[in-house]
Amino acid sequence: MFAPFAFARPTHLQDAVDRLAAGGAQVHAGGTDLLGCLRDHVFSVDTLVSLSSIEGLSGIREKGDGGLVIGALTTISEIAGHPEIRRRYPVLAQAAAEVGSPQLRNQGTLGGNLCQKPRCWYYRGDFPCLRKGGYKCFAVNGENQYHCIFGGANCFIVHPSDTAPALVALDAEVQTIGPRGSRRIPVAGLHMPPAENPTRETVLESGEILVEILVPPPADGLYSAYRKIRTRRAWDFAIAGCALALAMDGTRVRDCRVVLSGAAPIPWRSRETEEVLRGAVLDDAAIREASEAVVATAQPMSKNGYKVPLFKGMIEEELRKALEA
Ligand SMILES: Cc1cc2nc3c(=O)[nH]c(=O)nc-3n(C[C@H](O)[C@H](O)[C@H](O)COP(=O)(O)OP(=O)(O)OC[C@H]3O[C@@H](n4cnc5c(N)ncnc54)[C@H](O)[C@@H]3O)c2cc1C
Repeated sequence: MFAPFAFARPTHLQDAVDRLAAGGAQVHAGGTDLLGCLRDHVFSVDTLVSLSSIEGLSGIREKGDGGLVIGALTTISEIAGHPEIRRRYPVLAQAAAEVGSPQLRNQGTLGGNLCQKPRCWYYRGDFPCLRKGGYKCFAVNGENQYHCIFGGANCFIVHPSDTAPALVALDAEVQTIGPRGSRRIPVAGLHMPPAENPTRETVLESGEILVEILVPPPADGLYSAYRKIRTRRAWDFAIAGCALALAMDGTRVRDCRVVLSGAAPIPWRSRETEEVLRGAVLDDAAIREASEAVVATAQPMSKNGYKVPLFKGMIEEELRKALEA
């Protein structure tokens, strides 16, 4: 059962910003995450502000510099199937194709995917957890098999989005509009680490709307890929995943980003792995070293130690695929 709420469908962005800034309101995009939260009483709202009648928020277009602009209301299906994204940014197309199920990809949007709430069963359940403004993280001494092994601090969720790690790997940015005007935020800085504030998922301020996602032109020699491991083959979130973006000169890695999913409360850049790979010739020795480095700083909890060999093996397999590509 839903608690009652009002539903507004403004036709102008500024009107949406004003309605959101008034408080007690939330953006409604595809609703695939939001409506579940409301139905399950994870939180409540006075008003949902739909973006669906505002022109220009969906679609994919080329930027003058060779990059892409993706409207925040663009569906996940459109991203997964877009020929230019598949050709030039396989990591993003592959990550989008791994989201949920065809129904969720048809209805869910990229903006909603980046801003969705975590899937922790204590957060979603009837527990006064820290993220809901309560007093502790119940995963610490509880059922923590799907929780994080990096970056936990005071709350041990894993960040749920598949597209966010891919966009961090591609060094994408988001353009927002809010009560204090417009700003650009790197996707790498969009998500709030729990040590800074465990009750917020993003750094977006009250009333701030994500308008578009800007993806820079692909680096010369870019190899990119997304891998997701989950307990079921569909309708499920990553227990371990990685987005790779390797700028290659032949077999030498000129530059790279390695971003983990299912690992930490935010998309997790494995700087240790990047350090091993940057400047290295991608051979057996480098791949072995990188797969050790990816788990070097892991801090598994009582029931998720299985993630350590999982990440290690996954990075090794993914780097071998890059070598053979
Ligand atoms: C069974 C199930 C399985 C799923 N599996 C996956 C999965 O494997 N991988 C995955 O990544 N996701 C998964 N999801 C989560 C979700 O469906 C997707 O992330 C989807 O893309 C969310 O988009 P939406 O448009 O429906 O967001 P909504 O539900 O409309 O919004 C989600 C949140 O983002 C905020 N928001 C939305 N758009 C904006 C915006 N433009 N600016 C500011 N805030 C905004 C909303 O206020 C809300 O808090 C799953 C969901 C379900 C129910």
